[in-house]
Amino acid sequence: MNTAADFSRYVLPTYGRFPLVPVKGQGSYLWDDTGKRYLDFCTGIAVCSIGHCHPALTAAIQQQAATLMHCSNLYQIPQQAELARVIVETHVKLPGKVFFSNSGAEANDGLIKTARRFGHARPQPNGEARYEVITFTQSFHGRTLGSMAATAQKKIHEGFDPLLPGFRYCPFNDLAALEAAISPITAAILLEPVQGEGGVNVADAAFIRGAAALAKKHDLLLFFDEVQAGFGRCGHAMAWRALCPEIEPDGISWAKGMGGGFPIGSFWVSDRLIDEEKPLSTLMSPGSHGSTYGGNPLACAASLAVLDVIEREQLGAHALAMEAHMREQFATWNTPALTGLRGLGLLLGFSLDASLIPAVEGKTPAQVIVAQLMERGLLTVPAGPDVVRFLPPLNVSREEIDEALRILHQTVTSL
Ligand SMILES: *Cc1c(COP(=O)(O)O)cnc(C)c1O
Repeated sequence: MNTAADFSRYVLPTYGRFPLVPVKGQGSYLWDDTGKRYLDFCTGIAVCSIGHCHPALTAAIQQQAATLMHCSNLYQIPQQAELARVIVETHVKLPGKVFFSNSGAEANDGLIKTARRFGHARPQPNGEARYEVITFTQSFHGRTLGSMAATAQKKIHEGFDPLLPGFRYCPFNDLAALEAAISPITAAILLEPVQGEGGVNVADAAFIRGAAALAKKHDLLLFFDEVQAGFGRCGHAMAWRALCPEIEPDGISWAKGMGGGFPIGSFWVSDRLIDEEKPLSTLMSPGSHGSTYGGNPLACAASLAVLDVIEREQLGAHALAMEAHMREQFATWNTPALTGLRGLGLLLGFSLDASLIPAVEGKTPAQVIVAQLMERGLLTVPAGPDVVRFLPPLNVSREEIDEALRILHQTVTSL
């Protein structure tokens, strides 16, 4: 078996892949096919939230796989009902209902469809449906036709036009621009409380509050994309709660960390009334949406195990403690190549001074550093062209954080 050769011959080259062949994971570590061990602060891009092969997750998957792996959503899957209850009661803590998908992009498509239904239920004064969703520069919402169009990044759209219509892009953290962008066809605002892919950009609390006030004033839905930031990653069950806990969104999407490595996504829609008697959550009525795999017993059993570990071991609080430790250490450094540490909880990014990073043809400064860190045994992931993202498991130890910082420090001081 020659993995690299098979990749180039048989797999679509949609990723610029590093020459690393992963074969095994345990906790915060990952091994390649040569036996080399890496400290994994990429975690499959914020997916392995409780580390690799956590015994509780492995056992839940093994047990469910041997009992009932899949059945149709035509039936009342008990694990799905329980997971929905846990998400609503323990994590969102606002009345509403959940739909299960297989990925974050699909979850966002569900929110976009909810906005379209809302635009029909609450049309413009002339009776025509509203349909536009406002999203923000440097956002990332996924790769399906819907979530790609929602993503306000040119490079993601390249060569795929015509895009799905019905999106308007606005500068992030610019409330005046948001207000100016609202028009009679606007139906919803979709934002990441902490932008992950776009460079680890934290929304200002005042911006989220302002967006919520504008949504209320103009009868719009307010959606949070917590696909990367949710379920403890930012130190709280939900990232927006870390920023402005009193805000009540109309919809939320998740994926990544909620399955700990098992593919699952979901979105939640509020039960709030949109007129005298109609809850928002009833707009997605029987026949309006579906997924063959979504919310099957195996995926839900896996997610239940992950959310249970996050809750029981208070990994959100641990994430905040580890963030504080990392900031404390970083504050003592004198490393001009690193211009700052941004983010929230364990969704963190070191910004780079591009002029101090050796130029490599066809690579961004972040890709250059990520490759050097990998060489030294630390896996990370770029966020935009000049930010190196740290996404350790939420149960990472202080010693592992220190090891990662040592590798980063050595790397940037030996440039
Ligand atoms: C990764 C990501 C998505 C897309 O999730 P997929 O599971 O890759 O479809 C959407 N939104 C955000 C914020 C993400 O980080």
